Amino acid sequence: MNDKLKELAELMFPGIEKSVEDYEKMYPERKLEEGARVTRFAPSPTGFVHMGSLLSAFEDYKAAKDTNGVFYLRIEDTDSKRTVENGIVGILNDLKNFDIIPDEGMIDEEHSIGEYGPYIQSERKEIYHAFAKDLVLRGLAYPCFCSAEELDEIREIQELNKERIGYYGSFAKCRSLSVDEAIEKIKNGEEFTVRLKSPGDFNKKITLHDEARGDIEFPENDLDIVIIKSTDKLPTYHFAHLVDDHLMHTTHIMRGEEWIASFPIHDQLFEIFNFEKPKYVHLGVVMKIDEEGTRRKLSKRKDKEASVEFYHKEGIPKEAVKLYLMTIANSNFEEWFLENPDSDLSEFKFDFKKISASGTLFDVEKLLNISKNYFSKLTANEIYDNLLVWTKEFDEEFYNVLVNNKEYAISVFNIERGGVKPRKDYTSYRSIRNFVFYMFDDLFVSPDYGWNKITDKEEIKNILNTYVDKYMDFTDQEIWFNKIKEMCDELGYASNMKEYKKNPELFKGNVADVSGVLRIALTSLSNTPDLFLLMKLLGEVKVKERFLKCINN
Ligand code: GLU
Repeated sequence: MNDKLKELAELMFPGIEKSVEDYEKMYPERKLEEGARVTRFAPSPTGFVHMGSLLSAFEDYKAAKDTNGVFYLRIEDTDSKRTVENGIVGILNDLKNFDIIPDEGMIDEEHSIGEYGPYIQSERKEIYHAFAKDLVLRGLAYPCFCSAEELDEIREIQELNKERIGYYGSFAKCRSLSVDEAIEKIKNGEEFTVRLKSPGDFNKKITLHDEARGDIEFPENDLDIVIIKSTDKLPTYHFAHLVDDHLMHTTHIMRGEEWIASFPIHDQLFEIFNFEKPKYVHLGVVMKIDEEGTRRKLSKRKDKEASVEFYHKEGIPKEAVKLYLMTIANSNFEEWFLENPDSDLSEFKFDFKKISASGTLFDVEKLLNISKNYFSKLTANEIYDNLLVWTKEFDEEFYNVLVNNKEYAISVFNIERGGVKPRKDYTSYRSIRNFVFYMFDDLFVSPDYGWNKITDKEEIKNILNTYVDKYMDFTDQEIWFNKIKEMCDELGYASNMKEYKKNPELFKGNVADVSGVLRIALTSLSNTPDLFLLMKLLGEVKVKERFLKCINN
């Protein structure tokens, strides 16, 4: 071995004893079934997950689980600006809320499980240095002493001469330093980054075979990219990707499309080390159509639905969110789910080819529709139990009502539940209160009666008094309705809609208007489930009280 290079490598990486081969022995091939995928979610420790990254974590998880593979969590903390206190626990909680539990990786701020760690990059420094040292020894990496000002100058010249921007060829000043010069500078205490000595030729082509997008051609990389930064001696994304995904035996790199352009760098790094290359899947940006009708990136700052906390706070069931994520992850899922409405998500096989490359449109309305369907399939008991958990955290008043009236509340949730046309109004646990508050006196405190057809206060009183005095009968639905019709006849309203339509002028109104008064007096709303069912469940005493309350309002 070249003694000079050895001296340089020792100076650049003092105390690094292990070699690449040593690490390969420490992290042997995983023993998995044929075809099992190893995927990872690799966020910075920012404390939370937003919708875009939840979608990719979900896809990573699903891709691994479909094949009995491994899904692990690696924390990429090489950029201290993106690190927050308890940032890992926050991420883990967000994932857990959607049942995305990594098989390996960090389990809190300091600990991890799995044989391929450390799973946090700041603790892998020695490993990266061993790999970088290997490159230096092979003459494939060198120290670069250029200051920020010098790099700016290079860029300015390139811009002026309309040349390709970057540190390459003759622009790569430090590439041509002799080993002796480099050694001397380091001995003089000069700061340096470590750069790849790219063996690439910009005029040659390489192909990225993206599992979702197909083949994309690029020029070979010829940039001498930084692999180890000067200040903290941590690796850049490119180099960490090589080292980590190689040693952790990731089979599928699923990552944001912003990384497509760097593929030639990554491909070259894998070539140089002669490592087996992983497969790549680049995921589109999650977008939304905003109020002005324009398509834009879903924004953490502007869009509440971009934070996964939002779903928890709103009480949108994780099952519904997961169904929605699958819907936007794979274009064939919606149809599959229509055909297999009672199947579990795990029965659907995620397909890279069915990922939309043009970006994913995030549509809250669609998600709420999925949620409605999901709620319509729950039993009243399930709703009760889940709502109890949600209200305990977010609505104490409703929580107390539920605790004190368990059986009754279940009966309320049971109204129009099940059967061929179950009710589909609940969109979230938060929304339920708006659909049932009137069934609980404690929540029906100062109702805002939404009178519409019949609005005259005296006439409303007259209808309610007459009903309570003579026509209230909950024996069965038919008797109940016949009584209302009888009352209509007495008060001058049409009990028969056909007759009313023929000669509306002969009547004060019709049976629907009168029922509307009863409904609004009882619930304050003009749109509710079946009025008879509501009245029957409330019972005569309560119905009378409600009508009195309304009369005295
Ligand atoms: N930490 C990188 C990011 O957040 C990970 C990209 C990758 O998955 O490789 O963009």
